[in-house]
Amino acid sequence: MGPPGAGKGTQAKQIASEFGIPEISTGAIFRSNVANGTELGQIVSAIMAKGELVPDEVTVGLVTNRLAEPDAAEGFLLDGFPRTIPQAEALCELLDGSNLCIDAVISLVVDAEAVVQRMLKRAELEGRDDDNEETIRRRFEVYYAETEPLMAFFREHGRVVEVDGMGEIAEVTARILAALESEAGV
Ligand code: AMP
Repeated sequence: MGPPGAGKGTQAKQIASEFGIPEISTGAIFRSNVANGTELGQIVSAIMAKGELVPDEVTVGLVTNRLAEPDAAEGFLLDGFPRTIPQAEALCELLDGSNLCIDAVISLVVDAEAVVQRMLKRAELEGRDDDNEETIRRRFEVYYAETEPLMAFFREHGRVVEVDGMGEIAEVTARILAALESEAGV
């Protein structure tokens, strides 16, 4: 969890590789579908370019299928999902019927102004369509309206591990790993 540009994707890769589990990033899956011009890509590209959320049923369907793949059977790390209360409820239901559960919810705490600057820099480096200033602003609004309220949901249902997300990549990774161990016993 964390606002746009908090470094979720970067840290997800590090943490997933540390635990030898797949990193499942809904944003990355949507972007690759857009790049490949698939049917899903055609549905989501305009939504993403505006900084809006892809409809829950589309996103939940995608994650349901992805979690059923064999590499996720022993565990997984979700990046960018769930992002709404209905998505979180769908995930709970999905896991209810399996022998898996969420060990920890990692919340990256960052300085909003600093992350906007970080995103504008990323736009230059990666050329993401949704990293222009207007879309960035909208993605923040959507985050605070739809996703941030999930923190209360997670606090009730699971273990939220808050980590300072500012600083060097390796430094933040080390903080996450230490916090997972000490606070969630992972
Ligand atoms: P991200 O890479 O996680 O920042 O996601 C980029 C974009 O993909 C978001 O701004 C949304 O348009 C879409 N997206 C990614 N994950 C979700 C999700 N869980 N629910 C709805 N839309 C999503």
